[in-house]
Amino acid sequence: MATQNSTFAETTELCEECEKSTPHDVTIEIQTESKKQNNTEFSREPYRVTECMECNEMTAKRMNDA
Ligand SMILES: [Zn+2]
Repeated sequence: MATQNSTFAETTELCEECEKSTPHDVTIEIQTESKKQNNTEFSREPYRVTECMECNEMTAKRMNDA
């Protein structure tokens, strides 16, 4: 039975550690940032966190980066 019903999405992406495309787990994390120059608000930024299944390298990338 290969029923997978996790919250993880799986994708194949280039891993800089492996220097090749490897399977990655992808999760979305909301991280609260407080910017010292701009203390009028906290921004809660969604990050897309990918974890290489081969070397376990984790990469967090801000989703709102234009
Ligand atoms: Zn890797």
